[in-house]
Amino acid sequence: MSPERVVVNPMPAILQNKPYRVGRSSTGLGLFATKPIKKGAKIIRYFGPLLDSKKKKDDAIENKYLFELNGRWTIDGSIRENVARYINHACKPNAESDVKPRKRKVFIRAIKDIGPGEEINYDYGTDYFKAYLKPIGCKCEACEKKRKKKRAEARADRLRLKEKAERKAQKKAEKLAEAKKQAREELQGKPQEKALQAKAKKTKTLNGKANGRHPNGDGRPTPADDMPAGAEARIAEPATLDAPRRDGTAIAL
Ligand SMILES: [Zn+2]
Repeated sequence: MSPERVVVNPMPAILQNKPYRVGRSSTGLGLFATKPIKKGAKIIRYFGPLLDSKKKKDDAIENKYLFELNGRWTIDGSIRENVARYINHACKPNAESDVKPRKRKVFIRAIKDIGPGEEINYDYGTDYFKAYLKPIGCKCEACEKKRKKKRAEARADRLRLKEKAERKAQKKAEKLAEAKKQAREELQGKPQEKALQAKAKKTKTLNGKANGRHPNGDGRPTPADDMPAGAEARIAEPATLDAPRRDGTAIAL
């Protein structure tokens, strides 16, 4: 391959005429369909050096691209040529890993019709999920959707609680305002009541006079009771409403 060719077409030869390309995904890079892929179709092979767990050197290798075929054999998919390593995990995937342990081969196969532009993904399995995805939170579409729904529900809950608190606060404020109003009315009402009571007393007093009863009108014995009839007549004479003071005057007499 000449350097010019690389400049003109930077896409690796392995990707030419394939129904996929490497592209940006929500979590970094991913593999995307460029052509329609039928359900059941082999998309790409997941490949790399075979590691033998019986060999100490092989068994010591640790990376995120190890694909365990069985108890003994593992594919080390971390090599650059293994384009399938770009395929991201999904909990509700559109492809699966088709493992052929005897052939020691793995193919990624479509389990749904995949349209151009769609990201290809498969379920990495429980062990990988537990080791690598659960601690950071799976970013697959299904999990993001779930998270989004949960966030929306939490938002709705918060809003409901806020509205409830606001309603409660408003009710409290209304109650307080009502109590204040009542207190104000009572305060304003008292002098009025006093005035009314005073007026009523005066009226009673006058009525008492008219009935020929004692000016203080409440029948309580007062020093005036001991007064001679003439004195009482003299007290009652002036047409004044100021009866209690007149009583006082009468005492002075
Ligand atoms: Zn997920």
